[in-house]
Amino acid sequence: MSDLFFQPVTELAARLDAKEISSVELMQAVIARTKAVDGRVKAFNSFDEADALAQAAASDARRAAGQARGPLEGIPVGMKDVISVAGQPLTASSKMLANFVSPYDATATLNLRRAGAICWGRLNLDEFAMGSSTENSAFRTTCNPWDLTRVPGGSSGGSAAALAAGEAIVTLGSDTGGSIRQPAALCGVVGLKPTYGLVSRYGLIAFASSLDQIGPFGRTVEDVAITLGAIAGHDPLDSTSFNTAIPDYRAELSKRKGPWRIGIPKEYFGAGLDPEVGAAVEQAIAFYRARGCEIKEVSLPHTEYGVGVYYIIATAECSSNLARYDGIRYGHRSKQAKDVVDLYFQSRAEGFGAEVKRRIILGTYVLSSGYYDAFYLRAQKVRTLIRRDFLNAYREVDVLLTPTSPTPAFKAGAKADPLAMYLCDVYTIGVNLAGLPGISVPCGFSSGGLPIGMQLIGQPFQEAELLAIAHAYEQAHDWKARHPVVASNG
Ligand code: GLN
Repeated sequence: MSDLFFQPVTELAARLDAKEISSVELMQAVIARTKAVDGRVKAFNSFDEADALAQAAASDARRAAGQARGPLEGIPVGMKDVISVAGQPLTASSKMLANFVSPYDATATLNLRRAGAICWGRLNLDEFAMGSSTENSAFRTTCNPWDLTRVPGGSSGGSAAALAAGEAIVTLGSDTGGSIRQPAALCGVVGLKPTYGLVSRYGLIAFASSLDQIGPFGRTVEDVAITLGAIAGHDPLDSTSFNTAIPDYRAELSKRKGPWRIGIPKEYFGAGLDPEVGAAVEQAIAFYRARGCEIKEVSLPHTEYGVGVYYIIATAECSSNLARYDGIRYGHRSKQAKDVVDLYFQSRAEGFGAEVKRRIILGTYVLSSGYYDAFYLRAQKVRTLIRRDFLNAYREVDVLLTPTSPTPAFKAGAKADPLAMYLCDVYTIGVNLAGLPGISVPCGFSSGGLPIGMQLIGQPFQEAELLAIAHAYEQAHDWKARHPVVASNG
């Protein structure tokens, strides 16, 4: 049997049930692995070994007493450092919150606990989830386990890298414009951005509230289905949470067999797409065709406005959400300030990094009187057109298939220009603007040995179907059998 820390949830749950291993042993294996490789991967902002082992011991006791809670009983779940876990640090990888400890659990966290999971560690990200590489973290740049000189993607780079390197069994991230799917693609794991409203945002640090969603990363589509089932569901504490029945996503995987009508949006295969990524995605399309699916070219004509619209709406919402960091109520407080107004200025000047400041300034500008109509209001109108494009396409097809990221993982430092970084998300942003579910699934490797991901985009609240379509592909391919080789800390 290969290393415990590379096993999927399904395998580990069976072994825990059979009492071949205990949750404490599993947690110890994950801790040992993390200590061995995280000096190189740098996926974690922090972790609390004693707390994790205590949670594991409690899980073992429940199992022994016949009181196992749910499908994640005893499984270590790594948490992006924007999702609140009571009593643990919550930094958003920002100096602003460097010393902040969360006073309560996010609803997603509480739901994980109800399913028996162990909340494991705090995973690095781009500051306040703004970025595509984790290079905007105030603390450290996470490395891609497949090539440590490259980025893991972002903003949930720590969540993707930790999973790929065997430092967690599943992880949670958040996705505002691609932050789960793009790092999943770059690190060779599965990542799902749920339909807006499926998973509660209560206890998630807000970036752009009309776009943000929490979602799972897993080694397999099945693990993602299990984790989604645990965290999804209506929450009165989030007024945008949707009241809909949550199916047994795992059971649905094998019930739904297609054949599906798969749409290929022609705008997603143009200039800027790396030829190796394009070829891998074409092979995935050929797989579905050979399986009897109808493959149909479709058009999403407003795609070209996606990045522009996103960077108006996301920055506008971020400028409002980040106004709460004032140096008074919580977070960094400047020691230099002369008076109260100066305290606001200094605390924010010292606490926020360059990219966060850039976005606050941009967002304030597009909302200011005289510019609101020209930028913010117009962007909202185009957002509606983008959503309409998707809904029109779904009259003819069940799902859309695209690349997740235009390129495999790039070198750290390679995208110093913010615009070049923003273009990493051309294929993922439309999904958030339209509020749809999207999943990234590994679909090959570049000639240089870097993972490639494809994206499947589903209809609102049709995660069961989306996961089944992804599962059908995964069952017929064995990309997940490959793991990166990361040397132990020297
Ligand atoms: N890379 C995009 C941005 O910088 C998306 C980030 C995200 O999804 N949180 O805004």
